[in-house]
Amino acid sequence: MQTLAVREDTRVLLSQDEIPTSYYNIQSDLSEPIPPPLDPGTRQPVNPQSLERIFAKELIRQEISSERNIKIPEEVREAYAAIGRPTPLVRAKRLEKFLKTPARIYYKAEYLSPTGSHKPNTALAQAFYNSQQGTHRLVTESGAGQWGSALALASGIFGLKCKVYMVRVSYNQKPGRRTMMETYGAEVTPSPSNDTKFGKSLLDLDKQHPGTLGIAISEALEDTVTHDDSRYCLGSVLNHVLLHQTVIGLEAQKQFEKIDVMPDIIAGCIGGGSNFAGFAYPFLGEKLRGRSDARFVACEPKAVPSTTRGTYTYDFGDTAEMTPLLKMYTVGHKYVSPPIHSGGLRYHGKAPSLCYLINKGYVESVAYHQNEVFQAARTFAQTEGMIPAPETAHVIKFVIDEAIRCKERNESKVIAFNNCGHGLLDLKAYEDFQAGRLVDYEPASIQVDNYVS
Ligand SMILES: *Cc1c(COP(=O)(O)O)cnc(C)c1O
Repeated sequence: MQTLAVREDTRVLLSQDEIPTSYYNIQSDLSEPIPPPLDPGTRQPVNPQSLERIFAKELIRQEISSERNIKIPEEVREAYAAIGRPTPLVRAKRLEKFLKTPARIYYKAEYLSPTGSHKPNTALAQAFYNSQQGTHRLVTESGAGQWGSALALASGIFGLKCKVYMVRVSYNQKPGRRTMMETYGAEVTPSPSNDTKFGKSLLDLDKQHPGTLGIAISEALEDTVTHDDSRYCLGSVLNHVLLHQTVIGLEAQKQFEKIDVMPDIIAGCIGGGSNFAGFAYPFLGEKLRGRSDARFVACEPKAVPSTTRGTYTYDFGDTAEMTPLLKMYTVGHKYVSPPIHSGGLRYHGKAPSLCYLINKGYVESVAYHQNEVFQAARTFAQTEGMIPAPETAHVIKFVIDEAIRCKERNESKVIAFNNCGHGLLDLKAYEDFQAGRLVDYEPASIQVDNYVS
């Protein structure tokens, strides 16, 4: 039999029975609790029970849990297998060679999910726990559509209805993601819509209202509390979302063990923080327990510099001031994010647990402009063959810079990053980049009145 003449494997694979059996909860390894969400009126910690009308009970339990290992239900492990988990750990050998670096570069291929990002990892868990408690319908909002399409997929798998309020400009300008959600059976409504009182009040004033993410959140919440059979789902920021994403890092740990390699640098891009946390927290747990001295690096856009230029303070989670106050690095909930192509990285704050770890010095962060980021993405596409999502391109920029630094210092470090999405539905962004039409944005200063007064 002919065998393929590959001198060294570039893919580390796991079998389906090696899909993790528990999620990893980083709260268990911290010496104090992460600052809790506060009620904006009383400034007292929010009573978790008051959230039961909005979120599934099990998700609220996970949100406040300090157990280290939280069991993954068999049904969810099966669903993970159905969508292609475990994902490969890939060595980016051609990129290494192109950069002439002594560093070794590995990535976790989360872009291989059916919707093209890591988001189904939590969508499946959220849909499952909801189906278990008898929820019939899931409601959410979506900007660019990555989260909406993941929840639509998961709702289909667990037999739930799904309603997505999609910001009207995206609904009109990005029909690809909308069609994906509808193909999975979800109902997609441009927001503001006539389906809620709030949406209707805005449409009465302006029939062509372009919508914002804040408005879409408000509509999704109003819809949830006015339909008894419905619950709301979020795709990032909250502890339970980050928890579900740890399947990524737990698999990666097993894969690195198989090849007897220890990563020195672990990196990811951050919008709300869930794919970074999912990949990094299992490794960071080792560091918190004194068993590793790896570096952790989170990458964000200079246009929305939450962790590199923002303030660590209590702020609203949304523009519409409907959520509890969250302690996080934020550029302020009134910050108007510039129209960069990385829709997933335009969020004003970041996950409270990640912000806590940045504040304590366990995680570093860096920021980049979009032109340099797309340049890095092109280099990656031309060497490794896959076209990354604009969000993912931020971490690729860091990885390439770091590999060049390794060359200059002749250091053979192991760099690992989370390849969280492909860019095949974002080719307009590449088109604009290649035509020289991308603008690099950076705020001159972060206004104090962006914040809670
Ligand atoms: C949603 C998304 C992000 C940003 O969200 P995180 O919670 O920070 O992971 C980043 N990359 C891709 C591909 C996404 O879909």
